[in-house]
Amino acid sequence: MRLICSFLLIAWALAAEPADWIWTARYVVTMDPQRRILENGAVAVRGDRIVAVGARAEIEQRFQARERLDRGDALIAPGLVNTHAHAPMSLFRGVADDLPLQEWLEKFIFPAEARSVNPEFVRWGTRLACLEMMLSGTTTYADMYYFEDVVAEATKEAGLRGVLGETIIGFPVPDAKTPALALQFTERFLARFRGDPLITAAVAPHALYTNSDESLRASRALANRYAAPLLIHLAETKHENDEALAKRGMRPAQVLEKLGVLDGRTLAAHGVWLDDQDMRILKAHGTGVAHCPSSNAKLASGVAPVTRMLALGLAVGLGTDGPAGSNNDFDLLEEADLAAKLQKVTLGNPQALPATAALEMLTIGGARALGMEREIGSIEPGKRADLIVMRLDRPNAVPLYNVPSQMIYALKGCDVRDVMVNGRPVVRDGRSLTLDEAAILARAAEYGRRVTAAVK
Ligand SMILES: [Zn+2]
Repeated sequence: MRLICSFLLIAWALAAEPADWIWTARYVVTMDPQRRILENGAVAVRGDRIVAVGARAEIEQRFQARERLDRGDALIAPGLVNTHAHAPMSLFRGVADDLPLQEWLEKFIFPAEARSVNPEFVRWGTRLACLEMMLSGTTTYADMYYFEDVVAEATKEAGLRGVLGETIIGFPVPDAKTPALALQFTERFLARFRGDPLITAAVAPHALYTNSDESLRASRALANRYAAPLLIHLAETKHENDEALAKRGMRPAQVLEKLGVLDGRTLAAHGVWLDDQDMRILKAHGTGVAHCPSSNAKLASGVAPVTRMLALGLAVGLGTDGPAGSNNDFDLLEEADLAAKLQKVTLGNPQALPATAALEMLTIGGARALGMEREIGSIEPGKRADLIVMRLDRPNAVPLYNVPSQMIYALKGCDVRDVMVNGRPVVRDGRSLTLDEAAILARAAEYGRRVTAAVK
């Protein structure tokens, strides 16, 4: 009998398909086209890809994995996608709050940046940001800052996925005295990270109102030459709209369209002041939108018409922006919760932006906004293995009647327990496997003292 059992076991092992990992949990939230949520589900991963997702028994029969992670009272979901951030600004977290945007920028951020921002600052700031993001479930983020090559190096070190662009802006900044130099930097950056499995190099003109038409056109041309995405702030404040109307007789989205800036893969951040015509322009060009509800609320910019954007079929993702001034953390689940509630309260309709829609924005919607929906955003065979595990055994997670509702309205970033990016585990049991948490926290505190001295 023992002999027969051994024989059957060997026969199964030989017949089973190899996998590097099997992850199992009480639920697998796939975000596939049918939005299936599998009870007692499992995901098999080989190399950097998901090879199968299904019922636990089925996956275990089909695959023999080198390693496995079994999380009984938990859910597995696609890694979260943060579509707009400025990672190194984590070191300016809370340096000045509750101020009008212009005063905050001119009195605090611009002087602090002029004195503090160098490659080392950017490296430690990005490490801090990546640590916070991975521990709260973000596996992909889009970023615009300075020394973006250093941001890319630190992001790779963390093992996260980044869509990263050097800010191109019409005044001297820490690493480029002119927009022309920033464009040259960007071209070298695009060439260096071409084909990288984690980094998508982007072109990032800051905004319409901070760039010349010439810089904007050159940015688009450069992005298209490298088939790279273009990241830009758009229609964030009423002032931005009023200024464009006064100077050019057109709204910002119309100006970008006329300049040809939207002729290619584009992600526009904020879109608070888009009207119907603007949204149709973005839709016609396939432009994605990064909705940043905390930032827009904290700076009193307004509430973006997200319900309308989604009704028109725009690709909308969530962004934290910040984390200095405009939003003081990178907890993307908080953005989803707030996005849903802001739509309800401004439209006077509790059915506006339901939990299922917010969950889409967190995952597959964010991937679509970045033009990466064929690679990330859902748990489907062939996609990159970007997975998170969230605990369901804490007081805020019981009882559980509806999984999307629980994820959006009850679970927090700190309920994330394990994270995998591109097939590589980067968080296990709430601890980073790739970054030195103690060293990062100590260095952040030291930078805090230096920045305090600089803005006094
Ligand atoms: Zn921003």
